[in-house]
Parts: sequence; structure tokens; C-alpha cells
Amino acid sequence: MIHFRSKLPKTETTIFTVMSALATEYNAINLSQGFPDFDSPPQLIDLVGSFMKQGKNQYAPMAGLLILRNQIAEKVELLYNTSYDPETEITITAGGTQAIFTAIAATIIPGDEVIIFEPAYDSYAPSIKLLGGLVKPFELVPPDYKIDWDMVKKLISSRTRMIILNSPQNPTGVILDEEDIKQLISITKGTDILILSDEVYEHLVYDDRQHLSMARYPELKERSFVTVSFGKLFHTTGWKLGYCLAPEILMNEFRKVHQFLVFSVNTPMQYAIAEFLKNTGYYTELNSFFQQKRDYFRDLMQQTRFELLPCYGSYFQCASIKNITEEKDIDFVQRLTKEHQVAAIPASAFYNRGNDYGIVRFCFAKKQETLEKAVNLLAKV
Ligand code: PMP
Ligand code: GLN
Repeated sequence: MIHFRSKLPKTETTIFTVMSALATEYNAINLSQGFPDFDSPPQLIDLVGSFMKQGKNQYAPMAGLLILRNQIAEKVELLYNTSYDPETEITITAGGTQAIFTAIAATIIPGDEVIIFEPAYDSYAPSIKLLGGLVKPFELVPPDYKIDWDMVKKLISSRTRMIILNSPQNPTGVILDEEDIKQLISITKGTDILILSDEVYEHLVYDDRQHLSMARYPELKERSFVTVSFGKLFHTTGWKLGYCLAPEILMNEFRKVHQFLVFSVNTPMQYAIAEFLKNTGYYTELNSFFQQKRDYFRDLMQQTRFELLPCYGSYFQCASIKNITEEKDIDFVQRLTKEHQVAAIPASAFYNRGNDYGIVRFCFAKKQETLEKAVNLLAKV
């Protein structure tokens, strides 16, 4: 028998995998793992097929197709009024997760401290730990999950290497506002602290609010990796494609890792996305498409005993279960899946210490009929 030391002894299979498997086993409606149950634009699918038939099936350049990087540069300029050089400051990745891991791997050395805001997407902490970094979680609490920047300041030390932000945030749907940005600029000014800004839900911001990308602010842009996922943009989570924006000095380091982690990513899809992105209306109208879903789901949920928290962005709706049960959130979602045939995610899974505030997360990126069927079942809980 061989002996070895686990690099992540406390890490278990992700909650998304666990809950989706349970949903399948119990034939439940799956509002747990975040993915749409509707298709991506047919024109985009046709483009992929057409580029495959044209023989675009070999390695793409390491940083991604230049025509796609050009389109992304135009998109970023249009949305955030800033420019990234497609040659040196944009890299196409295998989804947001790889971009996040690569940015961490390129910059974190053993002993570096990284601040994350919990509840946090579950890939951050293990990625930091794998690289020998130390996770410094800042715990946000319901219902508003507001960041107390004076307290954040106390977490910062001479070893703080990076702050990871995620706006709109998964799972809370909370977004950064101008005051947060002001504080962030002030906290990082004169330091070498890097920012990893996970902006995969950049287009899913509601009620006429604006997404405040790090790219908009020169003082933040110069120290930021901005990571984005095409999975959220085109309802294609299974394609695992995304990109990273960063100033050249940071992108140089990013590419040193990227080239040996994946080298390059899916070629025909890059061609198809480059072509499809020329239609700027598609992404500028995406928020109203998802806002309708959010509003519809929230309205339907009024007939249940779940108490809804605010949702300003993302495709997740958090709800308190305190009117329903005193069970642990993880026990509740398992029972919900098995007995009521609706799967959700327990918010405690997004905290390092498993903080349980009796909050569960539903994904509303679903067809109207799916939401109706799910809420009919949730109304009986
Ligand atoms: N960050 C957040 C906050 C996410 O919710 C997700 C996935 N849904 C990702 C990153 C990863 O994106 P991808 O599937 O493109 O790797
Ligand atoms: N980001 C998705 C979610 O939050 C799932 C991603 C995954 O399954 N790894 O549900």
C-alpha cells in the first residue's frame, strides 16, 4: 500500500456535484447547481458546427484566437470605457474556474495571505491552499451581507498578497456599490496588494443598477485580474470557456502558468463566439432577460413559507428557512430533495467554518414552466 499526504485533507466533493447527483437520484427539479435549463442562441450553435466543418479543429494560439480577443477588447471598451490590449492583456481560458486558479497559481507563494469574502464560491479557498497560501476569510452575514471595510482593514497585514472579490456575488446576489469601490481604492492605495475580481455574473445586474467592474477604475485595474465566464453569457456552462483581463505585467505571469495548465482552449467555439459577439445587443439585453426570471420567481415564491433575501444580481435567489424548520441547512436541502423533489444549495457550504444562518440558494436560470413546477412543490413545504 502506498502512503502519501493529501494536499487538501479537509476538502470534499463540491456541494454542486453532491446536490445535482441527489437531484438526479430522487428525480427532483434541480434548482441547486447553477446552470440554465434552456438552450444557448441557435445561431451560436450553428456557428460552432460551421467552424468545425470548416476544419477549425486544431490548437488555438496559447492566449486564444486574436479575433476573439479583439472582440472582447471591444466589449470591455463599450461596457466599461477602458482599453485592454488584445495582444498582451487578454487571455482565453477554460472557463472562469481555470482563470481564477491560474491567477492564484501565478502570484501566490507559500505564506502569502489572501482575503476572501464569505459566503464565497467554493473554488477560491482550495486553490489558495494548494499553492501554499493562507486563506483569510471575511465573513459576511445575512440579510444584507454588507462589507464592513474598517474590519477588512484589520485583516490586512504585510503578508496580504491578494483580495478576491466576486460581484455580483454567488450565492448572495449582492453587488459592490460606489462606496465599496471607494473603500477598496483607499485600502489598496500605496500597497502591492493584487485583486482577483471574479465577474462571471457581470451582465446579470438588476433594477437599473450598474456592474462596477474593476476595469472601470484605473487605481484598481492596475492591480487586478478580472475573470469572466462565457458559460454565463451564452447559457453554455458545459462549454467551459471564459477569459481573463489583466495589465501586461500581470498577464505575463498569468500566461506562464496558463500555457502549462491547458496551453490553449477549444478552437471552433472561440471562432463561433468571436463571430457571435459582434451582436452587441445580445449581451446588453441579457440583464432584462434574467430580471424577468428573477421577478417571476420572486413573485411565485410569495406563496411559500420561504423568506426571500434581496437579489441585486447573479442568477441565484437566497431564502431563509427559519419559518419552516430549525434543521441544519444541509439537512433541510437533502430532505427537500428527497421528500419534496426540489434541490437547492445550503449557504453554509460557502463558509470555511460552515456558518449556518438557515439560508438556502435557488437558481432561477430556468424555463418558466420549471420555475412554476418547482414553486408548486415548494409551496407545500
Ligand atoms: N465564479 C463563480 C462565482 C461562479 O458561480 C462560477 C460558476 N458558476 C465560476 C466562477 C466558474 O465559472 P466556469 O463554469 O466558467 O468555470
Ligand atoms: N457556479 C455554479 C454554482 O454556483 C456551479 C459550478 C460547479 O458546479 N462547479 O452553482
